[in-house]
Amino acid sequence: MYDTTLRDGTQGEGVSLTVEDKLKITKKLDELGVHYIEGGWPGSNPKDLEYFQRIQTEPLKQAKISAFGSTRRAGSRAEDDPNIKALLDAGTPVVAIFGKSWDFHVTAALKTTLEENINMIRESVHFFKEQGREVVYDAEHFFDGYKANPVYALQTLEAASKAGADWIVLCDTNGGTLPQEIEQVLTVLCKEISTPLGIHVHNDGELAVANSLMAVRYGARQVQGTINGFGERCGNANLCSVIPNLQLKMGFCSLDSAALRQLTEVSRYVSEIANMTPLSTPAILWVPVAFASWKGGS
Ligand SMILES: [Zn+2]
Repeated sequence: MYDTTLRDGTQGEGVSLTVEDKLKITKKLDELGVHYIEGGWPGSNPKDLEYFQRIQTEPLKQAKISAFGSTRRAGSRAEDDPNIKALLDAGTPVVAIFGKSWDFHVTAALKTTLEENINMIRESVHFFKEQGREVVYDAEHFFDGYKANPVYALQTLEAASKAGADWIVLCDTNGGTLPQEIEQVLTVLCKEISTPLGIHVHNDGELAVANSLMAVRYGARQVQGTINGFGERCGNANLCSVIPNLQLKMGFCSLDSAALRQLTEVSRYVSEIANMTPLSTPAILWVPVAFASWKGGS
């Protein structure tokens, strides 16, 4: 279980956490037994930098802290890239690097070549492996990229895998993928990619929990999500729903069984700290994917 409440969750509308808030939530998630806690994006703001400095002296029971950021920029060297340096300076045992999967984004957004994007992924992953870090590679917009150009999308994953990534996480960044598409893609990828796969799903189609469960059923072994589904636009997969479904209905040991008893308390604790009204009934917040705004990140 990989929690990104403190990173993707804070990109949600109305969610703002101080450094103190983030430290409190980190401790709560650690007590719950979450395996990975993504603490923030150190290259994006001074608050996250302070969080990563202070979390180093906080004793945690078992959770590993992860810092999030992008691959190196086009035309630079990983060791000279400010974002890579900020990730390194965060001093976390785990780094999550997001990179482009969709050929259109490489040429239109990054304005570089498809080959250079592959180099950016490979060299960034390799750099952090050389530094002894556990590397989670987030394949941004993977499902849309795979639909547009499956050969290239697969090449980007192979680059991360060969460079030594510990996890390859398939991101449904726009949240428009259907469960049957998750099944189709995972079935192919489990044969093609030897690196363990993860899933990171947004909720624009109100399918983030369903898609996360489907991904696990078809081979994903890491689930990324947030407490209460906080996250950009319509939110991320809600771990408070994913965890009991995996545990009680699908027979996966996602967390220690005693943790299930803590979920309601954790949900309310995080809502209170984030100054958000606790969930009463599920809200239908469907937004056409084509009009969804995207602020960056996976
Ligand atoms: Zn995301």
